[in-house]
Amino acid sequence: MEDCIFCKIVKGDLPCFKVYEDEKVLAFEDINPVSQGHTLIIPKRHAENLWEVPEDDLAAIHAASKRVIAAMRKALDPVGVALLQLNGRGVNQVVMHYHLHLMPRSRDEPPLPVTSWELKEGDMDSIREVSKRIAAAIAE
Ligand code: AMP
Ligand code: ZN
Repeated sequence: MEDCIFCKIVKGDLPCFKVYEDEKVLAFEDINPVSQGHTLIIPKRHAENLWEVPEDDLAAIHAASKRVIAAMRKALDPVGVALLQLNGRGVNQVVMHYHLHLMPRSRDEPPLPVTSWELKEGDMDSIREVSKRIAAAIAE
């Protein structure tokens, strides 16, 4: 895609801090890191989001994420690694080329905002009702 910033990185028209590459995927550092080592993994083929990304690219992304977080464990000794992936502007997806965030948290860093929401007990009737709607849509 011509005006896609991540496609430009794949083509080499824009620079990146690359950490991993194979035939299908590229992993590089996020330039606005939430934590030290915050890395993005993308498919080389443009797809906007999880609805669009082909399953073979998705499988390659997840296999690569396993390799990269293994390397993070060796290189950074994090207390944990959070994975996050946003689909749609309504949930603050900003770059419209599928990307999986890998966010390691080191011992001396504060909790990651995406992992520290407050748990509030839900309404069981409402949870049951929404589960039925999603399950019915899968069965369609
Ligand atoms: P989002 O679409 O909200 O999941 O996040 C897009 C992410 O891409 C943000 O965390 C940005 O910091 C990151 N980002 C945007 N442009 C670049 C770039 N040129 N190189 C590396 N990361 C980028
Ligand atoms: Zn793209």
